[in-house]
Formats: sequence, structure tokens, C-alpha cells
Amino acid sequence: MRIDRRRLEASIEELGRIGETNKGGLTRLALSDDDRRARDRMVAWMREAGLSVRIDRMGNIFGERAGTEALPPVMMGSHIDSVPTGGKYDGQLGVLCALEAIRTLNDHEVQTRHPVMLVIFTNEEGARFQPAELASGVMAGKIALEDAYNTRDKDGIRLVDELERIGYLGPEPCVARPLRAYLELHIEQGPYLEEEGRSVGVVEGIVAISWSRVTIHGVQDHAGPTPMRTRHDALVAAAQIVTGVRRIATEIGGDLVATVGHLTVSPNITNAIPGKVALSIDVRDPLDATIDRALALVERVVHEACAREGVTSEVEHYWRVPYTRFDGAVVDAIERAARAAGARYRRIRSGAGHDAQYMAMIAPAGMIFVPSRGGRSHCEEEFTPIGDIEDGANTLLLTAAGLARGK
Ligand SMILES: [Zn+2]
Repeated sequence: MRIDRRRLEASIEELGRIGETNKGGLTRLALSDDDRRARDRMVAWMREAGLSVRIDRMGNIFGERAGTEALPPVMMGSHIDSVPTGGKYDGQLGVLCALEAIRTLNDHEVQTRHPVMLVIFTNEEGARFQPAELASGVMAGKIALEDAYNTRDKDGIRLVDELERIGYLGPEPCVARPLRAYLELHIEQGPYLEEEGRSVGVVEGIVAISWSRVTIHGVQDHAGPTPMRTRHDALVAAAQIVTGVRRIATEIGGDLVATVGHLTVSPNITNAIPGKVALSIDVRDPLDATIDRALALVERVVHEACAREGVTSEVEHYWRVPYTRFDGAVVDAIERAARAAGARYRRIRSGAGHDAQYMAMIAPAGMIFVPSRGGRSHCEEEFTPIGDIEDGANTLLLTAAGLARGK
């Protein structure tokens, strides 16, 4: 049993036209009009494939292919929202490979004991509404539904209002249900598979992730008459924090990565000394203890930078996901399927967060990676060769079929 490569390729192209940028990338922010159009397209395809479609209160979309027995389903899927000027592979590839796997089961009239279910998660990227993986977080019981509903985008629009506006505020409760397994195919977003000429990564786990917010309070004043010696410049302290965070990562070394990716400078004009700066810090490592060590050093760097400049600050570590170890039996099943599919595979770890992180808390979960050209993602240049996608999709198909047939 093999997937239909041309049909899959055609679906990737068609869905990729919704929200396509003029450089061939994708801007399809969660719950935007383009997200609605892409959802409508997916729901139509799911119905054509004979799936019964349901929507939950977070706008997650489910399509179920019945099993022969009343057993927990094998769920597979990903997300179809993107970052601004992102690519056509992050997220939607996992959803379309799952759809292709179901279409292939239909072609071969395969009956499974467990139902097979396709899922599309709302707002995985966290580009429009924070935090990331919001809807799977609600499903896993780690984020309260009310908090998710009240999350606002940068224009102050509430998530729940956008869900309703685009017609995807569904009736089903967004809660954990028994699952045989959760499977997610995704692009690697790193360089390793391509460097080694592999087509498939059998993912063993996802690094722990920590997000912090630092707010620095200086003294806003005129850029002209204020002498250098009397200044309390919030941005000068922020600059030292940015380089300090980089230094922490290089000093601890190993797999630790740390990034300051977002700054808000106030008043952010040419002729005023910045009075207030807010900045973000993203820290990742396979070991939770290493993250704890890095965060302690971050606090010291912030404290020292602010003392030097005579400014005050607050540090909030507001989001944390521990290391995710995928289910051993599911990982083994994926590895067997990769071998059976003839894929050139290796075991690998994910440096990026995915809905599978939350799903692993409520179900036996696993992920399949396919290579990212140049290791690049979250950009318009994102690309995966179709031959590698085919290997990944066949791995997904054989894993799902095996788990759904079994006890
Ligand atoms: Zn993704």
C-alpha cells in the first residue's frame, strides 16, 4: 500500500494558493479570512473522503473514518495556520499527508478496528494569538478555555470573536478523549536530515521550551539637552541583556539555544531617550535542569544590566513546556513503518514546539519529520522535495494503518 504522490502534490499546491505570497510563501494567520478559506477547503476534502466532520469549541476540526469496532481512534494531523511570510510546508504538510493517508486507505478499501481521525488544530503558530499550540493546550487541560477565548491579537480582537466570525466556533467540548495514538508529520525545520541525505526523521522527543518577558523602566527624556551622565536609558540596558542572553547560551553550550526575538521600545522615536522597553526571551534545551540554570543566569544578567544603567525591571517566566518524550511503542511503530516504506530514516529530536507536545500528555504520541531545504522554515524559502514527502507520507500511512488494525 502506497500513497498517491501526484494527488498529494496537487493538494499541497491547491491549499498553498490560499494565502500565497507573491514570492511563493504563505501568510495565513490563525482565524483570518484566508484561514477560513483553507478550513473550508479542508472540510470539503474531508467530506469527499467520506469522513464525518466535527468542530469543537476551540475551532479544532476533526474528520473521522469509522472503524469496525467502538475503539479509541488513531488521530493524525497538524495545523494550517502560518506565520507572516512563512512557507507552504510548516503545518499544512502534516494535515495533507494525513488526508492522503486516509484517501489511500479508502482506495484500498482497508478496514481498521480502530477509527482513523484527521485533526486540524487552531492557532498552532502563536503568531497572531499567544501562546503557541493554544488549542491543543486547551485540549490537554493545560490552558483554560476562558483564557484562550480572551487572548487578543495586536489589534485587540479576541480569539473567540474571530472563531465566531469565521464560522468555526463549534459545539463539541475541547477536552481530552481516549486515543489509540496521536501522529504528526511535520517538516524538520533544522538541517540534520538534509545534511545526512535522509528522507525521514523518527522523532523521539521535543526539547523543553521556556518563554520570558523582561520589562525595563528607565527615564524618558529629551535626546538633546539631557547630558549622558544623567541618563537612565531602558534601551541601553536592553542591549546588554540581548548580548548577555547570547553569552549565556554560548557559555552553557551543548544543545542550549537562547533568543531575544521581540522588543517594544517606548516611545520609539528619534529624539527621546527610551523610557520603557519590553523584550522576549526564548530558551530551549532537552534538559529541564539546563533551562533552570539558564534562567537563573538570565535573571543575573538583567539585574546587572539594569543596575549599571540605573533602571528597574521585572522578569516574568510566563510559559514553559517540559521535555516531551514520545511514546516508545509509537516511536518503534514509526521506525518499522519508515523501514517498510523504504525511507532513509534516522532517529531525531525536535527543536521546535508542536501540538504533539500537548497531545503527548493525553495520548501515546509520535512524530515523523521530513527534511527542510537548507534547514530553513518560517520563511518563504521553506521547501521539502516531493520524494522525501512521499517517504514521510508512506511512513505515516503505514504507522496509522498498523496501529488502527491492532488491539
Ligand atoms: Zn508547525
